[in-house]
Amino acid sequence: MPTEARRDAVVAIMARKPVASKTGYLDETFKDLWCKNVFGDEEMRKRLPEAAYRSLKGCVEHGTALDPLLADLVANAMKDWALSRGATHFTHWFQPMTGLTAEKHDSFVNWDESGRLIMEFSGKALVKGEPDASSFPSGGLRATFEARGYTAWDPTSPAFIKEAENGATLCIPTAFCSWTGEALDKKTPLLRSAEALTSAAIRVLRLLGDDKVESVYPTLGAEQEYFLIDRAFAALRPDLLATGRTLFGAKPPKGQELEDHYFGSISPRVIACMQEIDRELWKLGVPVKTRHNEVAPAQFELAPMFERTTVATDHNMLTMEVLRQVATRHGFTCLLHEKPFSGINGSGKHNNFSMATNHGENLLEPGSTPAENMRFVVFLTAVLRSVDVHADLLRVSVAHAGNDHRLGANEAPPAIISVYLGEQLSDVVQSLVSGTAAAETKKSFMALGVSALPKLPRDATDRNRTSPFAFTGNKFEFRAVGSSQSIGTPNIVLNSIMADSLRFLADEIDKAQKAGASRNDAVQRVVQSTLKQHQRIIFNGNGYSQEWQDDAKKRGLANYRNTVDALAQWDTPKNQTLFSSLNVLTAKELESRGHIMYEAYCKAIAIEAQSTLGLASSSIVPAAMRHLSMMTTTIAAAKVSGLVVKEQERSARAVCDGIETLLSAIRDLEGASAKADGHHGSLADHAKAYRDVAIPAMTAVRSAADVLEDIVDDDLWPLPKYREMLFLH
Ligand code: ADP
Ligand code: MG
Repeated sequence: MPTEARRDAVVAIMARKPVASKTGYLDETFKDLWCKNVFGDEEMRKRLPEAAYRSLKGCVEHGTALDPLLADLVANAMKDWALSRGATHFTHWFQPMTGLTAEKHDSFVNWDESGRLIMEFSGKALVKGEPDASSFPSGGLRATFEARGYTAWDPTSPAFIKEAENGATLCIPTAFCSWTGEALDKKTPLLRSAEALTSAAIRVLRLLGDDKVESVYPTLGAEQEYFLIDRAFAALRPDLLATGRTLFGAKPPKGQELEDHYFGSISPRVIACMQEIDRELWKLGVPVKTRHNEVAPAQFELAPMFERTTVATDHNMLTMEVLRQVATRHGFTCLLHEKPFSGINGSGKHNNFSMATNHGENLLEPGSTPAENMRFVVFLTAVLRSVDVHADLLRVSVAHAGNDHRLGANEAPPAIISVYLGEQLSDVVQSLVSGTAAAETKKSFMALGVSALPKLPRDATDRNRTSPFAFTGNKFEFRAVGSSQSIGTPNIVLNSIMADSLRFLADEIDKAQKAGASRNDAVQRVVQSTLKQHQRIIFNGNGYSQEWQDDAKKRGLANYRNTVDALAQWDTPKNQTLFSSLNVLTAKELESRGHIMYEAYCKAIAIEAQSTLGLASSSIVPAAMRHLSMMTTTIAAAKVSGLVVKEQERSARAVCDGIETLLSAIRDLEGASAKADGHHGSLADHAKAYRDVAIPAMTAVRSAADVLEDIVDDDLWPLPKYREMLFLH
């Protein structure tokens, strides 16, 4: 029988029932729910004069500037809609560098000229806000200028309403900048990078002879993994509460080895929770589509249909928030950490990426006509070049303390960035590369604009699950993204590196044409030489194997094994040039983001170290000593009675040794942690101290404690065990 607190938790959990939504699913169907809380196209059309509606659409689709008069009209319509939905307050909703979202509410209440109280919302208040946001991380950017930043309306992402028990709030997606225009958030550079991608893609399309496309935008579908464990257990795990992961926990007799959870039937409490999650997200206009049990026990996944990247990024932030909130209502704690439990799979966020034209064509869709083929091959070439030239940036974009437990740990992609194309598409690349040589053999030569592509398989079974960047039929899946992180940075990087490569290809094609080559010849030559130079990035084999590590090294591909190694690659001259030439991030903005990432890493490890120390010293050691005292008392009494206690003495000695080992590991961790905390030097050195000194000391404490968990009386063990948290729903 476990300790009282643990036992109470189990009793509470056994009594739980699936929780019903406030409105029955038959009373409020999908049609009623979809976009109920979004000020979307339909509402705008209904509430705005025709001309105003059309110019707002123009702003959204073509980025034209917004007339102040129009802002007043929109604000008023938005307010009327929000009031009709029960809102009393509005907030500029933004995404500071914490990786979370931020909001500060204001009510619509105001005095009019005659001193009466009215509900008002002006265009000025819609367009610009001045939260006192001086406590957000700025990486040193703001200190030199102004403590405050301002928020600016992003009309490309629809406003929405957040409902709570006792009211509703209108949320307006915004970008967050300093007074001197520096980006202090993830949204601003995301919007800038999407713009850079748009103009580079259009340039390429024009060179390929397309004069119809007006705009191109990146598309994104983010598959989200998460864990659900009962709240009663989470409340007894200070490590989970403070760090999002268990810092202790012996391996349970059964983990995920039977593979019986993946796609299994969903338990009644969990499906009720998932159903409400879907309903809440539909209300917010998030097009969630799939839900299922994942590989690890208590692990699940949800995926939306893809959208414009900028909107999909907002939607993923909302998804994480709704997951957490609805889970709580259902008596669960939703864990979004990359590795809540050791020894079983962690969680990621597959970032499905492509680009679409305003006509809805997918630019990574292999075509059926020679012209479409040519377009596909050019965009594919751009992807391969991007990933090869900027593998470092992709790696940094997913580097943080939580993800270090996943990448390279045989459950997620390795830390080496490579591209999986599959056999057929790799053959196409081969034949393009061998171009002139193969021209004699004719057979394998692929003439762009003339030959047809072979039919590519789109069978899910053909997939390589070990690749960090895989072609999956008509899009690429960047699989190294962590489950808890904002997808802002990975997509800022993806958009930027694609813009860079498309611009490069456009320059080269242009040059070749000016030198007299026909369009087809120019494209063929540029594609050939680019693929030749970057084909080393293609790898279709097993990314978990040692051979790949060796092979990758021979190919000159980098392997940044952890966050600290990766972060050193962020602010290099190459990357400064990339981001500043695309107007995505200035050198200063880039540098400040590097600081913030280092700081976040140091803080995360410092908190883990403190939590480890606290739990080990004040919960685990006392429990083990109580157990030892019980044993020694019993043994002494037995001896007095002349009983043989050889084995009992042996087992008491094991507990005693275990406690000694743990105490000495605790002492080491105290020293290590003080050393890392007090480290004076560069941020990079500070982070290294956490990685090289604090983490190993933490690991040693955990191992010693986990040994004790298996031998100390279960009655005395203070922390809910893996076997309880993972299997009791
Ligand atoms: P898969 O089985 O390859 O994972 P799915 O159709 O289930 O394929 O898609 C997974 C995710 O990829 C979904 O979120 C989906 O919306 C997204 N996706 C599909 N097509 C695109 C695209 N063109 N651009 C971006 N994301 C896409
Ligand atoms: Mg997928």
